[in-house]
Amino acid sequence: MKKITSHFPGLKVLLVEDYFINQEVTKDILELMECEVDIAEEGHDALKKALSKPYDLIIMDLQIPGIDGYEVTKQIRQQEGDRHNTIVALTASALDGDREKCLDVGMDDYISKPMEAGRLEEVLTRFFPAKMTTTK
Ligand code: MN
Repeated sequence: MKKITSHFPGLKVLLVEDYFINQEVTKDILELMECEVDIAEEGHDALKKALSKPYDLIIMDLQIPGIDGYEVTKQIRQQEGDRHNTIVALTASALDGDREKCLDVGMDDYISKPMEAGRLEEVLTRFFPAKMTTTK
């Protein structure tokens, strides 16, 4: 795994992912970057959590039980009011169709599986430069 050099102390992340292994890998990377991570494993819980607490970042697996990641995102966008939640999709494939669909429902970006530490670090660095501290 790439060595993590960027940290985002206290950044609140909601990780929506139903597959345990992916959950653990992504959570580990986020915690190495000093993020505070909550987990939702299915759509209704994801929506409830997303609307109940001001997360800095929501990482949204598209294929989850209950309501899927696209629909959860649509509903967050309809209900978030003035606040804009940063939502990054987790896609199983990097197909252009998936990407377009993500952007259509209002996601801010997407990450293709399998999760790579470098890609996650890049996304956090781009969206949260003001919260970043760097170590060698
Ligand atoms: Mn899934």
